[in-house]
Amino acid sequence: MSDNNKTSTPNGYLIVIEGIDGTGKSTQATMIAEALRENKHEVIQSFEPTNGPWGKKLRDSATTGRLSIQDELSYFVNDRREHVEQVIEPTMARGGIVVLDRYYFSTMAYQGARGIDTTTIRKENESFAPKPDLLIVLDLDVDTALQRIGVRDGEANEFEKRESLNFCRELFLSLRQQDGAHIIDANTSIKEVQEKLMALVQKELSV
Ligand code: ADP
Ligand code: MG
Repeated sequence: MSDNNKTSTPNGYLIVIEGIDGTGKSTQATMIAEALRENKHEVIQSFEPTNGPWGKKLRDSATTGRLSIQDELSYFVNDRREHVEQVIEPTMARGGIVVLDRYYFSTMAYQGARGIDTTTIRKENESFAPKPDLLIVLDLDVDTALQRIGVRDGEANEFEKRESLNFCRELFLSLRQQDGAHIIDANTSIKEVQEKLMALVQKELSV
């Protein structure tokens, strides 16, 4: 489909959207998927953590108490292995487009913020997870992002501490150099962000 396809699965196309919560990933992933479907592509829109058993354990931990860092990391990796095997690889093998709302860069960011070496996280993931063809980071300052998801000044749950969110934001920004990520300023309207994203997607996919 594309000359610059870098993945080990040559036919499909993997678009990944990253960024801290509240930057608009889910909103934009849906819009991109819909626009690409109109162009008659097979498009699978998905997200991590998934709704599979490991993803469920991770979601439950948000209310039942945060897992140990090692358990948390291995649950994310287990969840991703299933996701790659069951959804990402098969779709790409058919020549389809996968649009992902979060991927292993989020594990580097959030579990990195808990103290795990980000290079170690990257290596483990890249041993089984295909690299994206197009990596998009939606960037927004932490306070604005928290406001969008309804967190008021002075309150933030375990997953949303400002300090660790700043670490995550910086990690995502660093992907520009390391992974050729496209950094999009998310501090504009939904429509403006969408226009920028679609221009990028159209340029990269030649659709
Ligand atoms: P994420 O998936 O990154 O957490 P969402 O897409 O769920 O972000 O958006 C979080 C909230 O912010 C939603 O209420 C959404 O409608 C709103 N939102 C998304 N993008 C923008 C934007 N560009 N400007 C203002 N509000 C936005
Ligand atoms: Mg979301």
